Amino acid sequence: MDLQAVVDDIASALSERRGEGKVADYIPQLAKVDPKQFAITITTVDGQVFSAGDAETPFSIQSISKVFMLTLALGQAGETVWKRVGREPSGTAFNSIVQLEQEHGIPRNPFINAGAIVICDIVLGSYKPKEAIGEYVRFMRYLADDDMLTIDRAVAMSETATGSRNTALANFMRSFGNLHHDVAHVLGVYFHQCALAMTTRQLSRAGLFLAAQGADPISGYSVVSASRARRINALMLTCGHYDGSGDFAFHVGLPGKSGVGGGILAVAPGKASIAVWSPGLNKVGNSALGTLALEMLTNQTGWSVFGA
Ligand code: GLU
Repeated sequence: MDLQAVVDDIASALSERRGEGKVADYIPQLAKVDPKQFAITITTVDGQVFSAGDAETPFSIQSISKVFMLTLALGQAGETVWKRVGREPSGTAFNSIVQLEQEHGIPRNPFINAGAIVICDIVLGSYKPKEAIGEYVRFMRYLADDDMLTIDRAVAMSETATGSRNTALANFMRSFGNLHHDVAHVLGVYFHQCALAMTTRQLSRAGLFLAAQGADPISGYSVVSASRARRINALMLTCGHYDGSGDFAFHVGLPGKSGVGGGILAVAPGKASIAVWSPGLNKVGNSALGTLALEMLTNQTGWSVFGA
């Protein structure tokens, strides 16, 4: 299959539609991004890279970071993570507080904000706040095989300044005893993790271990066990797109995680890791063109996990 032709075809089919959707503006720094940008990169498990569009432009990975921070937390705390975070789709918005009361401060899954905040608290069990951020950046540079990755401090500051909802979620969970560290420290880690800037090329490289049974197929090093990679993929499939996860599975059929910066990381197990980016979001907060691009990709490649 000519994958370069596939990504070129997708980019050109969507070129007229660039700018569709609505850029996230509740984080002021994200509202400044040019909505007409679009990028796609496929990195295959045998190390080939195929890109089209603005694949060298860094964007804010936002919630996609939750996959990687969960991977770090599982490495530190193992399965005990699941005593403090659930594994069920939420069916509510990414920043929703309603289920937290019914479920006594245990977030439904690690990919909604409340869950990701608890994951940061778990990582803070092993590191001081600055070290936790440093460890995360090191991990991401290692996975992306690129020492140039950096956190966009303006985005982190912008989110800190406007993060009342996340502060409320953190305090609410603390009242149930499900947050052990200082709220400001936990949120400091969380906002910085979300503010990492990456290109689609870097992101698709970083996600490759999830397509290759937990090992980096290029360096040969193991990142997580095969069963852990499989389970992270399962969570991405069921919980990776907020309350649009069912629709994403229906249309695209791949484990995926989106972020309000307009990026999506998708995993085709045994085949490839794919990153797409287009800042305009659909009604549930997922990249509008990014989702369409992935739907075109699975239609053309037959890579859906549910069959060709
Ligand atoms: N940092 C963002 C927030 O907490 C992440 C949201 C997202 O990408 O889903 O609101």
